[in-house]
Amino acid sequence: MAEAANPFESLREQIDDAAEYLDVEEGALERLKTPERILETNLSVEMDDGSIEVFRAFRSQFNGDRGPYKGGIRYHPQVSRDEVKALSGWMVYKCAVVDIPYGGGKGGIVVDPDDYSEDELERLTRAFATELRPIIGEDKDIPAPDVNTGRREMNWIKDTYETLENRTEPGVVTGKAPDSGGSAGRVEATGRSVALTAREAFDYLGKDVQGATVAVQGYGNAGSIAAELLEDLGASVVAVSDSSGAVYDPEGLDTRAAKARKTETGDVTDYETPETLTNEELLTLDVDLLVPAALENAIDGDLARDVEADVIVEAANGPLTPDADDVLTDRDVAVFPDILANAGGVTVSYFEWVQNRQRFYWAEERVNNELETVIVDAFDRLTSVFEERDLPNFRTAAYVVAIERVSTASEQAGTWP
Ligand code: GLU
Repeated sequence: MAEAANPFESLREQIDDAAEYLDVEEGALERLKTPERILETNLSVEMDDGSIEVFRAFRSQFNGDRGPYKGGIRYHPQVSRDEVKALSGWMVYKCAVVDIPYGGGKGGIVVDPDDYSEDELERLTRAFATELRPIIGEDKDIPAPDVNTGRREMNWIKDTYETLENRTEPGVVTGKAPDSGGSAGRVEATGRSVALTAREAFDYLGKDVQGATVAVQGYGNAGSIAAELLEDLGASVVAVSDSSGAVYDPEGLDTRAAKARKTETGDVTDYETPETLTNEELLTLDVDLLVPAALENAIDGDLARDVEADVIVEAANGPLTPDADDVLTDRDVAVFPDILANAGGVTVSYFEWVQNRQRFYWAEERVNNELETVIVDAFDRLTSVFEERDLPNFRTAAYVVAIERVSTASEQAGTWP
């Protein structure tokens, strides 16, 4: 098997691909491809049995020219310095595509949370929050959930920060529980933008989402909600997977029942279907829409040759390698990129932050309506740039839109000191 692509190199390649269509000077382009700073720290945490364990953790602040750094914190054994750098860069361009006033950041801890108790995870999270305290804040850098983190972890970060700072500042972190300053609709927001992007994509391509067959790789927060909302739009979700494998029903699954089983047992494969598949079989299934919703590098150049889907909407960050992109562009598979499709999460994080600062909270309907407006506007802008400039694919169009916005802000900021 070929060596997995380095996500940071993938990000740089994606930016270079778009820069070919833009007038950005070499040094300025390097600035757009390089994180401003990275915190690397080793957290010593007491385990339940009294022993000490040390965990590596990172926070990358990629670019702050459009606003405070913004992005999630993930807990995963595969977290690395280069992964966090890439993810923070993708946040910069994601926030720019949907035109919300943030830069990009990302953090992570090298840990498999399944191996630890809730008390141990709380001590680990509070240890990280203590290290992050000097560099985060509602006007500096605003963490949020990502892979294997959610409301619980965000509440701990907020409480640690507010206790140490001796003031309330709910906007220091987003993705909190509603009673702790979280926004209605935040949990569903990433999956919602994936479903909205798919709906707009099908409409744009002259295809019918009603009755379209869908395969979803990854059944966490983004994948499962996207599947549910696609089913609500009339699509037939025929296959879903998680790390335990994939389930397949050519007649269409009940996406909510599949999630209920996964919540119960931890494995989506405990939901009974006529057939099971391997991860690779799911990714190469002959469906109308494929939604990769797990981790980076799900599809590389080799696998891309076998992809049978007509449309791909990326719910994960970086699920396609640049080689896969080249192959799929040649094969006329329409790929709608992560930095648009999963931007619903950070968009509703932005709404949460606005509500926190105003101490005035919106009903869920308002959140969902405003989110829809943001995603549909961004989709329209991306497709018009794609057509006007005759670009090779939608990812390049998204980066052209985003890089123009970031580079204008960088230029206006200048290079002082
Ligand atoms: N982790 C999510 C992402 O990758 C959300 C980030 C946020 O809400 O700040 O977009």
